[in-house]
Amino acid sequence: MNEMTMRFLSRSENEVFARNAVAAFALPLNPTLDELSDVKTAVSEAVTNCIVHGYRGKTGWITLSCRTEGNRLHIEISDDGAGIEDVRKALEPFFTTLGSEERSGMGFTIMQSFMDEFSVDSVAGKGTKVTMCKNFAAGASDAG
Ligand code: ATP
Ligand code: MG
Repeated sequence: MNEMTMRFLSRSENEVFARNAVAAFALPLNPTLDELSDVKTAVSEAVTNCIVHGYRGKTGWITLSCRTEGNRLHIEISDDGAGIEDVRKALEPFFTTLGSEERSGMGFTIMQSFMDEFSVDSVAGKGTKVTMCKNFAAGASDAG
């Protein structure tokens, strides 16, 4: 078991920082390049959502927590931003509230298909938390 939590500002350069931090944290589990790429993409999508939808250009904190257990990586990404009025609708492929700004409405769909478990908790006006898990085929080389 291993665990980490970090908090960073909703600046666009932190998308790369966050996805690489998660990749580095997951390395002891010996993920394949494909598995790592799936996780990095899902983290990027979640962090981008916090930045563009949660805070909408304002600056706020994004919290990222990771936990490993055996061959499993558990990730939580949350903001204290706008929140989502209708989560069920937001999860539909191609649904976006920023249609004019080159968003395709596929972020949640990508997270869902690239990760083994996925869920969203959100309260309008309070914020959003995305929880995701990935099971790596190989698992850690050392016990613990
Ligand atoms: P894409 O991810 O393809 O660029 P998108 O961000 O609009 O487009 P999703 O990531 O699937 O698509 O998100 C769907 C919708 O859910 C968003 O348009 C937005 O309305 C809402 N949403 C997602 N994440 C958040 C968040 N952290 N805070 C507030 N609203 C969010
Ligand atoms: Mg998105």
